This record gives sequence, structure tokens and C-alpha cells, in this order.
Amino acid sequence: MQAVAHDVKEDFGGLELSAPVARAIAEMGYREPTEIQAETIPILLAGRDMLGQAQTGTGKTAAFGIPLVELVDPERPVVQALVLAPTRELASQISEEIQKLAMHRGIRTATVYGGAPMGRQLLDLKLGAQVVVGTPGRILDHLSRGTMRLNEVRYLILDEADRMLDMGFMPDVERILRRTPRTRQTALFSATMPLVVRILARRHMKDPVSIQVKPEERTVAEVDQIYYEVAQQDKPAGLELILKEHQPERAIIFCRTQVAVDRVTRFLRARKFDVEAIHGSMSQQHRERVMADFRRGELPLLVATNVAARGLDINEVSHVINYDIPEESESYIHRIGRTARMGRDGVAITFVAEWDEDALAEIKKAVNGALRQERLTLYG
Ligand code: AMP
Repeated sequence: MQAVAHDVKEDFGGLELSAPVARAIAEMGYREPTEIQAETIPILLAGRDMLGQAQTGTGKTAAFGIPLVELVDPERPVVQALVLAPTRELASQISEEIQKLAMHRGIRTATVYGGAPMGRQLLDLKLGAQVVVGTPGRILDHLSRGTMRLNEVRYLILDEADRMLDMGFMPDVERILRRTPRTRQTALFSATMPLVVRILARRHMKDPVSIQVKPEERTVAEVDQIYYEVAQQDKPAGLELILKEHQPERAIIFCRTQVAVDRVTRFLRARKFDVEAIHGSMSQQHRERVMADFRRGELPLLVATNVAARGLDINEVSHVINYDIPEESESYIHRIGRTARMGRDGVAITFVAEWDEDALAEIKKAVNGALRQERLTLYG
């Protein structure tokens, strides 16, 4: 990523940025780079490939977004940067952040994902978008229709690579990578580094620099982690109690299945809580509306499956409630990473039912005993 065209440099906590980008950052209210930004931005600006182990909440979007908007040439109406994300929600969030960062540089972005109308995407591409953010399926769609070309891509980001793997997108990702020039610069971000992701990195990246931001370091210090033993059949009543006791300003309640999400939402509505649900079977439009309300702070309670809520960037989530315990400790850490963003305090509450002992033991190990038990008044 050499040849940044703009001359005047401005300082962002020790990083040298062009004036239009520094101005956008100031307008976004960022005063200092986060840890991942301080480490990543110089590497990417120097043109190196990079492998970043970091989660949502660390500021990783701007960590790759800032170099991206510095690199892209607004004068050339071809796709120069491509960002791949596993979900529509994440793609639209990344796109929003990049558009803000690019505000004073006259760069066009197209957001390309399934479930959204083709018309707008086609128009953005036709108008010469220089940055494309999207999910793998829809990007392949455009490639096979000939409505998007990637032969001038210089900068490629894979975000939440482990999630793409979980969701079965790896073959699509490889297909897309093969349509871009080998000379491109590549950055990969992932909360965890499973073998398949490391193999992908080895195959498609040039001598990448590795960066790690450890999730434990963030979560243990700032999130109050509580678990309650509760019988499966008592969970609804337990949830009601907890919501009344904690009065969360903004909470996400995670359930394992879509059926459970619907059931819990109905139960809470019947108890007069202001609550909405999101899961994969809902229309994109509905999910976007609910998410927008939640982000604006107009909706205090959101019930979601893990996949639906994956990668959501919601500031100031005061409570994460694991109505069903996550099956892997990584998923637990990822979830509670949504609270206590950027130094704010948060509470993570987990229900432990009859068959959850193994999952609980694994989580306890992963967070070094930062989890404490409380008793539900339900049980006297
Ligand atoms: P991310 O990990 O990219 O999802 O970012 C998490 C949140 O941190 C987002 O709401 C960003 O707007 C915010 N953020 C990113 N970088 C900074 C920064 N340098 N200073 C303050 N907030 C930031």
C-alpha cells in the first residue's frame, strides 16, 4: 500500500495520516488509536500482508478501514479494495464505517449482500465504486453475471474468517481470491485461528505479519460475569426476575435456536417488556429495522441467535444474557465482548441448566475464574 497520494500529514496518536482522513476520524469522535489500530495501521500502510487475531469491539474495522481509505485512488472508477464479511449485518456495518472514514476523500462504496435488492448494488457498481464490501455469495453472483470485476483489486480484507469457515463460505472465499490479482495486499482478521484459516492464510498471503489482541485481557477486567443455575423449565421465570432486578438499559439475550428466540420473545412481550427478536429466518428488511432501533437506543431488549447477532457492533450494550449457555468458550468470550466496549462497564449473565456442566467448566477455564455464581431468588 505504498504511494499514498496526499502530501500533508496529520498526527493521530502517533500515526501519520492524510488530512482528509484525519479530519474524518476527528469528526467520528476518535481521539486516540485503539491497540489494534496502533499496531495494524503502520503495517498496512507499509504494504505488508497481515494476520490479525482480534474481535469485534477492538476497533478492528477502522484498523483496516483507515489504510484502505488512504490507499484508494478516488480518480479511478474501478474496484480497488474488497472487504469480505460473513454476514449482511457485519457487511453493512463495515460499509458504514468505511463511508464515514472516506467522507472527505470522494470514494464510492458499494455494499453487496444477499437479500437486498440488486438495483442499488448494480447502480453503485456502475457508478464506479472503488470499494466493495460484501458477503461471499452475492459477490460471486456479481462476478458470474459480469457486473463486477476484481482484476484491479489492490487491497483485500477478510473479516471474521473463522465465522466464514463456520458458515461454510471457505470455498466461495477461495473462488473470490482467485479472481483478484496475486499482487494485491491481503489482511485477514479472525477472533480465533483454526487450522483451516491458517492454511488459507499460508496459501493466499505473502509473509504476513501476525498481530494479536487478546480477548481475555479486555473481558476479565471490565465485564462483571455472573452465572445462575436454573432448571431449563424455569428459565423464562428466571429471565423475568433478572430483567426486573438488573433493569438493563440495553441487553441482548442469546438463545441457541430460532424457536427459542421466538418463544422467549413471546414470553417477554406477554409480560409487557419492550422486546424484538432477530434470527436468520426473518426478512433482511425486518432485521435491519430492529437493529437500527436497537442501535439508536430506542429498543432496550433484543433476543437473538448467535449467528444473527454475530459481529454486530453495538456500543453501550449494558447486558449480555446467555439464556442458553454458549457451547464453546470462544463463543462466550465473543458474546461478552459486546459489553464493556471501549472501557465501559458491562454485565454478562449466563444461565446454567441441567446439562451445561461441561460447557460451564470450559468457560470458567477460559476466563480464569472471572465468573461468579449468584442464586436466583426463584429458588429461595
Ligand atoms: P469494531 O471493533 O471495529 O467493531 O469497533 C468497535 C467500536 O469502537 C465501534 O463503535 C467504533 O466506532 C469504535 N472505535 C473504533 N476505533 C475507535 C477509536 N480509535 N476511538 C474510539 N472509538 C473507536
